[in-house]
Amino acid sequence: MILTGAGVSAASGLDTFRGHGGLWKQFDAEACATATALYTDPLRVWKLISFMRRAARTAKPNPAHQAIAALEHRLSNEQSLTVATQNIDGLHQRAGSGNVIELHGRLSHTRCMSRRCSLEPFEDWELYETQVPRCERCGAPLRPDVVLFEELLPPDAYRATETAVQTCDLFLAVGTSCTVHPACDFVYEARDAGARTMLVNLEPPESTADAFDEIHLGPAEELLPLLLG
Ligand SMILES: [Zn+2]
Repeated sequence: MILTGAGVSAASGLDTFRGHGGLWKQFDAEACATATALYTDPLRVWKLISFMRRAARTAKPNPAHQAIAALEHRLSNEQSLTVATQNIDGLHQRAGSGNVIELHGRLSHTRCMSRRCSLEPFEDWELYETQVPRCERCGAPLRPDVVLFEELLPPDAYRATETAVQTCDLFLAVGTSCTVHPACDFVYEARDAGARTMLVNLEPPESTADAFDEIHLGPAEELLPLLLG
């Protein structure tokens, strides 16, 4: 299984969230990508999401996404590959990966805020920068189908990732420092379950270095084609 983070999409021009000069600072994302903000100032959340949608709409998969997709298509019948991603840009699927778990939701979809509403999440690349959109079925505000701070990961996506982590023979983390929960737990779980563990990232991990059998430092779009090709 492969766990991917923001570093995989950096070469596609999508700002890494926490990186120097990233979205983080520009939008004060820590304050506005929160569940609290969704209720107190939803337009602020939508402005950030609109900015991200605009960037993701025109972004293209890079050699890191392509190497991961190509690996899936080279597998034998007895093998399988699960990609669990913390990214919300959909670039793994656009590169051709078929088995992708989106741990933090998807930028491409919108859903109703009301839990009682029957409206299913729907594909929506609209930008909402002046007005919060409303549900056509119940009138409640609409929200992006992404996981905000203070929110839990989608239970189905989390469980599917745990299953992949506990049953994989190779755990490869790419473009994530594996220091934030739950990514940091996944690598230890994979190692304890007997998997070979590898990290490909620009920077060394702060606290989980001992959990990896191999650490390759460098850009994912350069290292993955070499390692997986
Ligand atoms: Zn509704």
